[in-house]
Amino acid sequence: MSQADGTNGPLSFFENVNRSFDRAARFLTYPEGLLTQIRTCNSVYAVQFPIRTRHGYEVIAGWRVQHSHHKAPCKGGIRYAPVVSEQEVQALAALMTYKCALVDVPFGGAKGGVQIDPKRYSVDELERITRRYTAELIKKNFIGPGIDVPAPDYGTSGREMAWIFDTYASFHPGQIDAAACVTGKPISQGGVQGRVEATGRGVYFGLREACENAEDMKPVGLSPGLADKTVIVQGLGNVGYHAAKFCQEAGCRIVGIAEYEGGIVNARGLDVDAVRAHRAQTQSILDFPGAENVPQSPAVLERACDILIPAALENQITATNAPRIQAKIVAEAANGPITAQAEDILAAKGVLIIPDVYLNAGGVTVSYFEWLKNLSHVQLGRMGKRFDQSAFDKILHTVERLTDKGLSEGERREVARGADEIDLVNSGLEETMITAYRQIYEEWRADTQVPDLRTAAFISAIKKIAVSYIELGIFP
Ligand code: NAD
Repeated sequence: MSQADGTNGPLSFFENVNRSFDRAARFLTYPEGLLTQIRTCNSVYAVQFPIRTRHGYEVIAGWRVQHSHHKAPCKGGIRYAPVVSEQEVQALAALMTYKCALVDVPFGGAKGGVQIDPKRYSVDELERITRRYTAELIKKNFIGPGIDVPAPDYGTSGREMAWIFDTYASFHPGQIDAAACVTGKPISQGGVQGRVEATGRGVYFGLREACENAEDMKPVGLSPGLADKTVIVQGLGNVGYHAAKFCQEAGCRIVGIAEYEGGIVNARGLDVDAVRAHRAQTQSILDFPGAENVPQSPAVLERACDILIPAALENQITATNAPRIQAKIVAEAANGPITAQAEDILAAKGVLIIPDVYLNAGGVTVSYFEWLKNLSHVQLGRMGKRFDQSAFDKILHTVERLTDKGLSEGERREVARGADEIDLVNSGLEETMITAYRQIYEEWRADTQVPDLRTAAFISAIKKIAVSYIELGIFP
């Protein structure tokens, strides 16, 4: 089948990312060599290692791809999934480069993948796989606070990050900055408050920005603001759960949730926390009280809603189901959920796509804060909290004296408060998502030929990366 860009057949995930790059590059005048340098993966490390499991010895395949060395360290999550492949990890690493540039996080992009289904292994086996994979990264100098810093992604969490840190620290006794070799760690292991929910919170901030402007909502037939919007979420994992939760708190109605085992819908709304508790108890979201079961999970994506949030894996909206998607906005919480062909179909239908490369950047933003915390060896807010509190207190006393009006103890506690770590993290995340959206939006509106937010985001990212090379004198 011939596609709009002249290629035949469906593109691979990596080709799809490069298609977005090439679309953006048409609006830029950099020399071809510079664009090729930005777009190419700098280092690709493939590894195979044996592991003894209950089922006998298995050879496990893993990858770590450093897409760009224009800044150090490289940064990107580690994915555990049976479908992980080299081209998938390359695509995800490339997205990380553009993502970090968009949100002004000073890292090159990277990604890791281990080709396993974590559900098939015991905790003990997963620990052995994680530690061995980390040892392989150490052997080739593919991990370190100033080299390459992994984080959680699909199929991994703080638990795996703690094992990675512990393995790295054992191989580098006395390295004072060892904790900064990985982010997304539990708090007790040097993690930062707010990292677990950061990607989902960032998705919410990004959606809020995109839906704020009445002029942008008019073409999709929606009123401005998130309140009362109907939302369907695919994937109730880390990103999907938190994105749904924050949207619900902002007044959205979650009318559908799709998971591995099936989907549930309820036009009156589903309580996200209750669905999660139900799944934890029964191992399934199906049969949630008051909801209709949809045994074929992908069918949930085709139900009527204002906002569809795919938060599972790539290639979920394809040429096959795109014509049936009824959502007015698709908010890409997952990486690469829309194939190239599907994107053209949705664009022709006038669907507003908020691209992954921007929308799920909250995770790496807060990972950056964790990395800074690890390198500074001090909890965020520790130095200033008391000082700010007493300064606010003095201001309040002065205002009370001058106005002859007093505050209650509760009011005083609320106003005269220094920022905790979680306050600083959330405020830094909000600021980052707002600023990045405005920069992307400016690129979109600056030229009527720029077709969509994704192209605008890539233009913004390429410009920021190109500067690094140009100012180094490598390219004119
Ligand atoms: P996760 O493993 O915590 O959750 C993913 C969920 O999706 C699981 O509950 C899984 O059962 C479900 N799922 C898988 N296939 C499905 C399908 N076909 N239909 C319905 N549900 C399905 O993973 P996560 O960390 O939430 O990552 C989700 C996506 O977000 C990935 O694309 C990842 O790359 C991206 N992302 C994650 C982070 C992060 O901080 N974790 C940051 C940026 C981007």
